[in-house]
Amino acid sequence: MNISENLLRLKTKIPTSVTLVAVSKTKSEAEILDVYRCEQRHFGENKVQEAVRKYENLPKDICWHFIGHLQTNKVKYIAPFIHLIHGVDRLKLLQEIDRQACKFHRVLDCLLQFHIAREDTKFGFDFEECRAMLNQEDFKALKHVRICGVMGMATFTDDMAQQHREFATLKCIFDNLKADYFKDSEDFKIISMGMSEDYEAAIAEGSTMVRIGSAVFGERN
Ligand SMILES: *Cc1c(COP(=O)(O)O)cnc(C)c1O
Repeated sequence: MNISENLLRLKTKIPTSVTLVAVSKTKSEAEILDVYRCEQRHFGENKVQEAVRKYENLPKDICWHFIGHLQTNKVKYIAPFIHLIHGVDRLKLLQEIDRQACKFHRVLDCLLQFHIAREDTKFGFDFEECRAMLNQEDFKALKHVRICGVMGMATFTDDMAQQHREFATLKCIFDNLKADYFKDSEDFKIISMGMSEDYEAAIAEGSTMVRIGSAVFGERN
């Protein structure tokens, strides 16, 4: 199957209310343009240098999502153009995002990443740790970040019941934070969960944004 067939097939399975982020990490600019020509505008990258290079060389109406683990010393490179940072998992990082956003006269949209998988290799807050941060004055002082929701990755498994449980956990975290901290925020509305192998479970559990790579572009090398 080619890329446009992949996209068309996905679009029959993803409700229009759910944003599709095409994860283009490791893929060439020519491949990204193939997807772009099918009217796809949201793309996701997980390496800063690669994201910057692609931003510079590709059409400027692309919305670039940063979905990887972001080091504080690299925030400055993506701050001028990034559309949404998915992987925020510590106050230090938010403070640096705030500083760089201010420098570029922007307010940067961010998602709080939660650790919902069984594997301990995946980054993210746990619930209490995140609440503690949201209560801190240092957090409340940030003026150039906009917290738009949550992000998480499920365990890599064939066990569908487990995928559903983990996604339901993230939905529950979202609902709790919304009620306790973001009741009056119209921005706090994104639940970024679901990848090529598990997006159907994620959507069933309330995902509003899926990050899909191989099911769009084909397998990565
Ligand atoms: C690579 C990646 C994806 C996409 O993975 P696929 O299995 O190719 O769909 C989604 N989210 C994150 C955080 C990733 O690193």
